[in-house]
Amino acid sequence: MVASPKVVVIGSGLGGLSCGWILQRNHYEVTVLEQGTQIGGCLQCFSRRGAKFETGMHFIGSAAPGQTMHKVMRYFGLLDSVELSALDTDSYNTVALGGQQFHFPNGKEAFMERFSAYFPREKDSLRKYVDIVHRIASASALGSLVSSDRDANANTEYQARSINEVLDTLFKDSLLKKVLVGDLPLYSAEWDKTPFSQHAFIMDFYNQSAYRVVGGSDAMASSLARNIERQGGRLFTSAKAVRICCDDAKAVGVETADGRFFPADYVISTIHPKRLLEILDTKLIRPAFRRRINAIPQTASSFALYVKFKSGAMPYMNTNFFGYDSGTPWNCEHYAPDEWPKGFLYMHMCAEAGLEWARSGVVLSYMKMEDVARWLGTSVGHRGEEYESFKREHADRLMASVEKHVPGFRASVAEYYTSTPLTYLDYTGTEDGSMYGVAKDVNRGLEVRVPYRTKIPNLFLAGQNVNSHGMMGVVVGTILACSELVPAQKIYEQIKEANQ
Ligand SMILES: Cc1cc2nc3c(=O)[nH]c(=O)nc-3n(C[C@H](O)[C@H](O)[C@H](O)COP(=O)(O)OP(=O)(O)OC[C@H]3O[C@@H](n4cnc5c(N)ncnc54)[C@H](O)[C@@H]3O)c2cc1C
Repeated sequence: MVASPKVVVIGSGLGGLSCGWILQRNHYEVTVLEQGTQIGGCLQCFSRRGAKFETGMHFIGSAAPGQTMHKVMRYFGLLDSVELSALDTDSYNTVALGGQQFHFPNGKEAFMERFSAYFPREKDSLRKYVDIVHRIASASALGSLVSSDRDANANTEYQARSINEVLDTLFKDSLLKKVLVGDLPLYSAEWDKTPFSQHAFIMDFYNQSAYRVVGGSDAMASSLARNIERQGGRLFTSAKAVRICCDDAKAVGVETADGRFFPADYVISTIHPKRLLEILDTKLIRPAFRRRINAIPQTASSFALYVKFKSGAMPYMNTNFFGYDSGTPWNCEHYAPDEWPKGFLYMHMCAEAGLEWARSGVVLSYMKMEDVARWLGTSVGHRGEEYESFKREHADRLMASVEKHVPGFRASVAEYYTSTPLTYLDYTGTEDGSMYGVAKDVNRGLEVRVPYRTKIPNLFLAGQNVNSHGMMGVVVGTILACSELVPAQKIYEQIKEANQ
């Protein structure tokens, strides 16, 4: 019998686990290496004194039966063990701006009706906007499960135009333009830089449907890991890849910090590309490529306030709440110290289906690495009293900001925990603690693109830095990378078969 080719996957976030699952399912011999003690990367959760908290992924879209993510989840075997809980279909997102609250309902027509009522003079332009968003999103191969780009022009045009530029050409009402990007912390969008296509994908993804994962998004990581192992794949935690070993022509294996060597016919890296270059000591990678990758800017990082509520004190909030004190969702990542926080995203965790009272929640607000740079090089739990006091002060300010929008918030808090950009750096290895990895920039085009292929013919990249972040963005990147070993159309056929 011919031995199956060996694939070593570096990183056990959604990118690594989904690559691992597809390749093991297609008869490769998969080994996933994870540096941390827990698998999942941004799917990780943690528990404190009976309350559980999600650190990264909080909700997913397009996951109702028949929709793309539902099909993908069935293919991954996730629907057998992962329970989803729909956010309020009449208001999955709430944006608080200029003293008003705007509610985003699921469904194109419901959105049209609601927003035409909020902004009657913009009704015709809203129709154009909805059509463009839909056209861009449905051009994705994953949406159609056909491995060709059906409307490459739509994508190319809107990848080259910034969100604000396109909104300016469509709308006159400045409040509407701000409300439509009220959820921009979900993709860390930047003025004049982030492509409109990014906005369109996220808008369409959640407009279709929006769900929280009951019990926490780590259930997806555990389920994927179990399914990989059931099919014969292997996963190692506390296995930090420190070197991708290459001969003159290709990668031959991966060495871990504890001195183990994992031979490989193929290597898939799902870690941040800067981390990858650090462990890739070979002449096969040209200095110009290193310089380009190292110069790509990062998406913003954030401060997280994890709240455990008093029992029966905070009604479960079945919407994601985006609050802005600065009057605009734009530029909240740029702040003078006394301006922080300019905005926040506040969400409850769905501990179990049909929850009446929230048990835990999270509030996120952008934070720059430079704010905590003086503690770089220290380790979790040992950063000292000054750092703890910095976190207490910022938790206080963030709670005060939420309280303005959600009266009674503060009184319902039993205890809280916090994290900073250093935490993201330590737990995921992402550059500068960036939430979503590298940033896109319409002005810099391909220069800021991370390719999924390298000059090393058997080394591929996947994860949020290739294509895009988030549930959908990462899965698209996974299919791109895996399609080097299993034709994309075969993967799409398998997704279809799993859903028959
Ligand atoms: C705060 C936050 C909120 C988010 N909310 C949402 C949301 O609501 N919905 C949504 O769809 N998306 C959301 N996202 C985005 C989404 O969670 C990520 O895009 C996705 O999970 C990233 O998966 P990944 O595999 O690319 O990377 P990661 O999850 O970062 O995984 C990379 C893994 O590689 C490991 N690693 C790094 N270096 C090494 C090494 N040398 N050796 C071995 N292992 C290594 C890391 O420890 C990590 O486990 C959120 C992200 C953040 C940070």
